[in-house]
Amino acid sequence: MHVLVLGAGVTGLATAWYLREDGHTVTVVERNEDVALESSFANGGQLSYSYVAPLAGPGILSKLPSWLLRGDSPIRFRPRLDPDQWRWLAQFVGACTQRQSELSTRRLLALSFLSRDLMQQLQTSEPGLHFSHSNAGKLVVHRKRASFDAALRLLDYQRSLGCEQQALDTRECVEKEPALAHLAGQLQGGIFTPGEDSGDCYQFCVGMSRLLQARGVEFRLGTKVTALRRVQSSDRRVEALADNRAIDADQIVLAAGAASAALLKPLGLRAPLYPLKGYSLTTQVDPHGHAPHISITDFERKIVYARLGDRLRVAGMADVTGRRADVDPSRVATLRAESVAAFPDAGNFDEATVWCGLRPATPHSTPIIDSTCYENLWLNLGQGALGFTLALASGRSIADLIARRRPAVPLDGFTL
Ligand SMILES: Cc1cc2nc3c(=O)[nH]c(=O)nc-3n(C[C@H](O)[C@H](O)[C@H](O)COP(=O)(O)OP(=O)(O)OC[C@H]3O[C@@H](n4cnc5c(N)ncnc54)[C@H](O)[C@@H]3O)c2cc1C
Repeated sequence: MHVLVLGAGVTGLATAWYLREDGHTVTVVERNEDVALESSFANGGQLSYSYVAPLAGPGILSKLPSWLLRGDSPIRFRPRLDPDQWRWLAQFVGACTQRQSELSTRRLLALSFLSRDLMQQLQTSEPGLHFSHSNAGKLVVHRKRASFDAALRLLDYQRSLGCEQQALDTRECVEKEPALAHLAGQLQGGIFTPGEDSGDCYQFCVGMSRLLQARGVEFRLGTKVTALRRVQSSDRRVEALADNRAIDADQIVLAAGAASAALLKPLGLRAPLYPLKGYSLTTQVDPHGHAPHISITDFERKIVYARLGDRLRVAGMADVTGRRADVDPSRVATLRAESVAAFPDAGNFDEATVWCGLRPATPHSTPIIDSTCYENLWLNLGQGALGFTLALASGRSIADLIARRRPAVPLDGFTL
């Protein structure tokens, strides 16, 4: 079968990988001149297999008013004359219940654990795939007693779902990661997860695209799909148009990240996707300073720090402010100030490379890995804040659906 994958971000590339493994002829279509130049370019770099709790949780609603009003808050909202934004927000608020949050967490964990297994298999079969990968674990630090206590209460629940985690007091946090010494006075403790990885998503994508090309996968870069439309001869099939011509294919997988919803709308399919804008800084690590070696998440600030070889990646912010990936200098200033305050001599944050990207987010934080009412159109989108983490399992799962195989994890929570 000839399968078209629309989008060469980490989701599309992982999809192409498993489709090719199944023996299909695969063509990846990408509007940019290279792979992974959008959301997959400079993300937080965390392969967060055990920390998958959705953004929509019971604790969020009480914090939202202050977050939405403050300029330096981790989440920012700017109302737009865009019904999709309001619809998304209403669904997000509806998802902020204990029950829904636990359900989404369980579903996401099944997918992320599969991703972890697949990543190990991939690294064994492709030892030449280098992406500044590290397996040093992740420490989530808490500044507030109440949030640390809540995290402690969650430990048993997380354990029951298969996550191996340790609670550390402040002294143990600093023992685990000496670069935290500067922050120690502000910490209540942390939760350490040994099995977590980090890596550079862009390097991973470039490596994957080389492996895919070596296996005969065709890349049509610089090719924008302008529309998906029903084919004239059948109401149940669609075709992808580029340069005013239909691209030849038997099956189509849409993995176009935050841009996917607009392509689906004319087909009468409404994907609950909204772009959550986030920022990252990447700095060379100062060899004489103190940069963290393990991944750190600052729980209250919602900022992640990942060591990528001799670089440090800092990422954060979730802005519900529109669809444009333009940089707001005030957000960069906040991220820079937080980085300097946490790890003052880790590197020169004034000269850090600034990036912003759009997380393709669903209100429940669960991706859409699904067939559609069109017999040749499949969806792999909405991985939100976890696209790097979930990419391999998402790609494997959609390939299973196309092959009419039973997926390794139940996909009933990942439907359109
Ligand atoms: C600040 C930030 C930090 C993050 N941190 C992490 C993290 O630590 N861990 C983690 O797991 N995830 C993280 N994420 C999330 C992760 O980066 C995304 O979920 C993931 O990159 C989404 O991948 P994707 O392939 O679905 O989308 P994208 O990478 O956006 O790829 C979609 C591709 O489709 C192409 N495309 C779109 N429309 C068309 C069209 N019409 N024709 C042709 N091509 C088209 C685009 O050009 C793009 O290349 C973070 C995201 C951000 C913004």
